[in-house]
Amino acid sequence: MEKIQLDVIVNQRGNRTDGFINYGQKADLSFYQIPVIIIEGGKPGKTLLVDGAMHGDETEGSEAIIKLAAELEDTEFAGTFVGVPALNMEAFTIISRGTITDGFNLNRIFPGRKDQYITHYLAAHYMERVVSHVDAVINFHGGGDVLHLEPLCAYVPFDGPDDTAARVSYEMAQAFNVKYLWSQQNLPFGGITSLEYKKAFNIPTIIPEVGSQCSRFTNRDRDIDICYNGIKNVMAYFEMIPPTGQKPVEDKLHIELNYLHSRNGGIMKLCKRENEFFEEGEVLCVIDNLFGDRVEALKAPWPGIVIGYWSVPVIHPGDWCSLAAKIIDAPEFYKK
Ligand SMILES: [Zn+2]
Repeated sequence: MEKIQLDVIVNQRGNRTDGFINYGQKADLSFYQIPVIIIEGGKPGKTLLVDGAMHGDETEGSEAIIKLAAELEDTEFAGTFVGVPALNMEAFTIISRGTITDGFNLNRIFPGRKDQYITHYLAAHYMERVVSHVDAVINFHGGGDVLHLEPLCAYVPFDGPDDTAARVSYEMAQAFNVKYLWSQQNLPFGGITSLEYKKAFNIPTIIPEVGSQCSRFTNRDRDIDICYNGIKNVMAYFEMIPPTGQKPVEDKLHIELNYLHSRNGGIMKLCKRENEFFEEGEVLCVIDNLFGDRVEALKAPWPGIVIGYWSVPVIHPGDWCSLAAKIIDAPEFYKK
């Protein structure tokens, strides 16, 4: 596998190189850039890519990447750690989910294309310059500024019993070590990293969702540590580093996450909060208008558990008011 080439090198010391991959010159002559940290372990092994802030307001993974990179510097391990602390730097800089220039959501347009908008170009360029050079990917997300999500880890669903990328993705998700394991089946949208990386390169990806603006108020360090420990657990799974000794979460649940949309805007109040089970027909949240009249009561379409929700009081028509999950079995095709 060929090594990742950087266009700009900012620091090179010991086993660590920091720099940028450029993807387009702006009118002010500066470039759109992808920041990349490459740390060579010095022994043969896997190349693990870990990226954060592809949605610019989701930064718990970014902080974990920065913390772990400082620790891996000048140490010997097997393989190569590639950290991208802010994949969509244009969105990260203004603390926005989407790209400032064209308004696109980067995680809906993979594999991207080179003949359209800058976000499409970023996706295509990243796949060519970075993703095609690695063995596995951890693509961090979280609740960002308007959602809350309980820590979960998504894996790609199995296409059949011989689906090696899905098997490794599932084992990475197990190793990452959080309570909820999300099979990304029946998604209401396409163009996301994990499924497109598998399609293009047959490589395994996991998508942890950790942290949110409301969790940051008291749990910012805890959430960063969940990300940091999760990366190390996955590195240990790939035998890049020795076992971490972290106690496995015992009561893990397999889920299919569903996005329940409000039909009306107004002031939203939760009736079921995170980690609460519900029955079919139970009200998950209500929306009142500015005169105090109830305009909507969102009922559960099936029994399940609340994983997250719209976390600011004001909601628009069509927003994700409840992130509810069906409890499912472990993947039927999974064999060790
Ligand atoms: Zn995200």
